[in-house]
Amino acid sequence: MLFVLLQIALDACAMQNAIAAIHKPLPGEQQMSVREILQIGHPVLAARAQEIDIAAIDSPEVQGWIDDLIDTMRDANGAGIAANQIGIPYRLFTVEVGDNPRYPYKPPIPLTILINPVIAFLSDKTFEANEGCLSVPDMRGTVTRHLEIAVSGYDRDGQHRSFNVRGYSAGTWQHEHDHLDGILFPHRVKDPQSFCSWSAFAEFHQAEFADRVRQLVDTWGS
Ligand SMILES: [Zn+2]
Repeated sequence: MLFVLLQIALDACAMQNAIAAIHKPLPGEQQMSVREILQIGHPVLAARAQEIDIAAIDSPEVQGWIDDLIDTMRDANGAGIAANQIGIPYRLFTVEVGDNPRYPYKPPIPLTILINPVIAFLSDKTFEANEGCLSVPDMRGTVTRHLEIAVSGYDRDGQHRSFNVRGYSAGTWQHEHDHLDGILFPHRVKDPQSFCSWSAFAEFHQAEFADRVRQLVDTWGS
């Protein structure tokens, strides 16, 4: 009897070891890393972030920052996140929009990493965007964004990329780029009456705003 119990215990132990072996990260595989998101008022969010040395993009440090940004953005259902929002004072942000419960009206944007990003306005056309931010808890507000922009920067492989964005999605890139200059969306709100909580936005404003977003997407394609 004792032998049988001992055998069962040994078998259970072997099973646990086997499961642990299955779940062990493969060499080079990163563990998920969700970082604390700094909140408005933190000095790192208010300062201009520094350029990243392009020769250092393939370093484990910069690659680790990128992995942490992606994990933290996805964990918080953000549409984007800038490095200084997780305490890294360098010019780097990620953007990604899929089926996002925070922003159900946002058109999709594939995962994009931009290092030392530059944004140029292609025209004077603007639109009114209602924005929220992971660093501004339970607050939304209306800001003016350019409709047609040129975006450039380096990806995580050190390749220089440039592309144009037109329509509602242009606001997302401007929002993330602003972070790197220490600017958060409340700094750009012209009408303080537009500030509202997320629940008040959902109840009183989201339907009308989502209609306007649809019209922009119909006109501009994104
Ligand atoms: Zn933000």
